[in-house]
Amino acid sequence: MIFRAHLGECRWEGTPVLEYKQDGTTTFRHVTRQTLFEGEGMEFQWRYFEVAPGGYSTLERHEHEHAVMVVRGEGRVLVGDAVHDIRLYDLILVPPMTWHQFQPAGDEPLGFLCIVNARRDRPQLPTAADLEALRRNPEVAAFIRV
Ligand code: MN
Repeated sequence: MIFRAHLGECRWEGTPVLEYKQDGTTTFRHVTRQTLFEGEGMEFQWRYFEVAPGGYSTLERHEHEHAVMVVRGEGRVLVGDAVHDIRLYDLILVPPMTWHQFQPAGDEPLGFLCIVNARRDRPQLPTAADLEALRRNPEVAAFIRV
């Protein structure tokens, strides 16, 4: 089966772009998600996320891992207690129970592919104590958005 890309875009035939309401209760901002592959018998899901300038993904951790490749733009990512610059085609592994958050840099969206287990635990959000611990690192404190 082939799902054609829209020419020059990270959009695919038959793949809806899920936009989330910005109702003030969300833990992310300016993020869209497309599920590229999922289904009966598949032990993984392959998704594409895009974070527009000024946006950020949820600061979270969980038992399942993320295997990520940047395919659009550039940005920065928190993995654990370090913030890294990321650019096109970089690979990012988010290990189990590791805090992570993605943010674009510059005026282009940050787009990345992300593979996860189909069956996975729900993300955990940081408690006040978790945030306090994360913010002991000044670079992390300046980076994270909640
Ligand atoms: Mn996650």
